[in-house]
Amino acid sequence: MNTVPPTEAAFRAGTIAVLGRPNVGKSTLINAMVGAKVSIVSPRPQTTRHRLLGIATFPEGQLLLVDTPGIHGQQKRAMNRMMNRAARGAVEGVDAALLVIEAGRWTDDDALAYQALKTSGVPCVLVINKVDKVTDKAALLPFIAEVTKERDFSSVYPLSALKKRGLDGLVKTLLKLVPESEPLYADDEITDRSERFLAGELVREQLMTRLGDELPYSATVEIEKFELDGEMLRIAAVVWVEREGQKPIVIGKGGERLKAISTGARIGMEKLFDRKVFLETWCRVREGWSDDEAALRRFGYSD
Ligand code: GDP
Ligand code: MG
Repeated sequence: MNTVPPTEAAFRAGTIAVLGRPNVGKSTLINAMVGAKVSIVSPRPQTTRHRLLGIATFPEGQLLLVDTPGIHGQQKRAMNRMMNRAARGAVEGVDAALLVIEAGRWTDDDALAYQALKTSGVPCVLVINKVDKVTDKAALLPFIAEVTKERDFSSVYPLSALKKRGLDGLVKTLLKLVPESEPLYADDEITDRSERFLAGELVREQLMTRLGDELPYSATVEIEKFELDGEMLRIAAVVWVEREGQKPIVIGKGGERLKAISTGARIGMEKLFDRKVFLETWCRVREGWSDDEAALRRFGYSD
């Protein structure tokens, strides 16, 4: 007797915007779902300056995760204005959105991000991140009740992006929120950005991590050379600062700091690109660009 084979669930694919105030762990969460560092992470707010796509492919479907610079209340400088425009624009045309917050805290900036999302009308999943930092787990339930009260979330996931705990349920839910579709990218693609761009970001990650509060937000990175030489990548990076006086901060005593930045970035590149990297790093001065939108565009910070 013929039996009808069980129908395979159709493949699903779509786009998810990831929003939230700076430093809640949006980039960490995207990297955890993608399984590679496509978006740089640092302990400092506003590490993510560009909109980028993390591509996470599973047997059941594919999620295009839009990382955004965090939405926040202060828009004093041109850089901040641009980042906010990019964040709001990220919601257009997506299948669903993730609002990421930190366990135990709901701030005015979280409310601002929620508002930006709600006006878009897309289904919104709440991620309560950094639960690993919560010592009193019993306090989590009343917090969840409080933040979801009178707000419209299609589901809520407390998790730890850093420890990669609690991600499976979130991925399942997101796959249900995207339509049936062929894969939108090849299954070995992890981002829409070039390797050259990612190389620059890995240098910037080291700058932000190693310089802490000493580094002005205006510092940026340009990749001057990105060449394949046999099996090896030859990369040259320039760290641009605003003033001559900032150069010693980046370079450090006897060049030690820039050397450490370069080594850290090279290790990240070798991991991400899966090949040997020869990286040269320089520090140069370009005055007063962070307040000037035209100059920002020249550096690729447009939205
Ligand atoms: P974004 O600005 O929202 O993209 O935040 P990042 O992904 O850059 O993360 C900001 C900081 O929070 C970094 O120091 C991360 O290591 C840290 N972080 C992110 N997720 C978690 C988490 O689940 N637990 C803890 N303890 N720290 C986290
Ligand atoms: Mg980020």
